Amino acid sequence: MMRLPSKFVPASLLLTIALAPLAFAQAPSPGLNALPEVEFSRLSQRDPNPLGEKALAIHPEQWKHGETEHFIYHFVDSFVVTPLSVEAEFHYRVVAKELQREPPAGDTKSHIYIFQQPADWRQFQTIGKLEPWTGGIHSQGSLFILRDPAYKFSGNVLGHEIAHLVMHRYYPDGIPCWLDEGFAQYVSKGARASYQRARNYISKAHSQAIAAENLIPLTALTAMTSPPSDRVETFYDESERLVRFLASTDKESFLTFLDAVARHQPIDSALVQSYNEKFPTLTALEEQFRQYATTEFGTSLQQAGGG
Ligand SMILES: [Zn+2]
Repeated sequence: MMRLPSKFVPASLLLTIALAPLAFAQAPSPGLNALPEVEFSRLSQRDPNPLGEKALAIHPEQWKHGETEHFIYHFVDSFVVTPLSVEAEFHYRVVAKELQREPPAGDTKSHIYIFQQPADWRQFQTIGKLEPWTGGIHSQGSLFILRDPAYKFSGNVLGHEIAHLVMHRYYPDGIPCWLDEGFAQYVSKGARASYQRARNYISKAHSQAIAAENLIPLTALTAMTSPPSDRVETFYDESERLVRFLASTDKESFLTFLDAVARHQPIDSALVQSYNEKFPTLTALEEQFRQYATTEFGTSLQQAGGG
């Protein structure tokens, strides 16, 4: 948190503080379809991530536990975890479908820790490494998140973080920062829109155009190992646009490219191999991407290339 400009303090954190008294007033009791609580000792798997143990050491008496098909949850209140568990499985299916791959062998579940108290969350932030954009922390396949009961629809935060978890399962050796963040933004914006549409909320995915003078050159963007603290917003927007451009130019090529880069193939040769003559070099890609990145598409997302 400290190295970031104050405008990147997660909105959810601020709202939690502002709306805290409301949370008491409207806390419902768990419904009939609440996520069943499982004793810690009876969970099907333990989290090998040492951060998990540290999270559960913060007010240890508050934590309850539960499981669904792909996730294990550590939570405080049933009414908070129940809708989140439905949403998490939804996002898992969306991302797996987007990757057009069979899930990797093995039945490892990802652990999700849901904090409700801002004070607990701040204590945890000093231990973990905060991802500035979302206010969530994903680390070695586990997810730590602050969920405010009084503020249910907090944008695409959960989808973004679930996308990271799924990517980690498919590509455990790691993928470049821009591709990981860009894909998480790309897939979660679309997923958020369809999740809300399914529940009759008017929602359209929105991809942010970038002013030409703000564009980070692709050689720099693709070499970054973390979002640059002075250009966080541009980094996320541009990475999302680049993934969207590559995926909509040719989906099959994009997936081949993803596999190649995840095997640590240099981006130039991965581009040539995956897209043939279309992008013979990173410079050629940049020339075509520039136009796409700086165009405002209004409220709906459009395909690249225009046929
Ligand atoms: Zn992220």
